[in-house]
Amino acid sequence: MMYQQKRMLELSDLISFCFTCKGCGISLSIPASANLKSGRLEKCPSCDDVWMTPVTGSVRKFLDFKQAFNSLTSSFEGGKVDGFTLTLEIASDPVSTA
Ligand SMILES: [Zn+2]
Repeated sequence: MMYQQKRMLELSDLISFCFTCKGCGISLSIPASANLKSGRLEKCPSCDDVWMTPVTGSVRKFLDFKQAFNSLTSSFEGGKVDGFTLTLEIASDPVSTA
């Protein structure tokens, strides 16, 4: 007999995006519902190390992801979408890359 356990998240389980500076270790938690303006994540608010750059597009990619996530989450609120539920499966043994 084989037993397999899956870990699933509902979209509403994701409540914030958490950033930890590799330079100084400060943590910044941004609520998923926050209306974030660009330019605030380009450098660490504590030590000024570069976090995301407009050159590589990583700021725009994050903001695009966040906007798409919020749009998807709101479309599933209140049973607006019928016929299925959407969950996110995470690794059963998450590996930290920190
Ligand atoms: Zn820092």
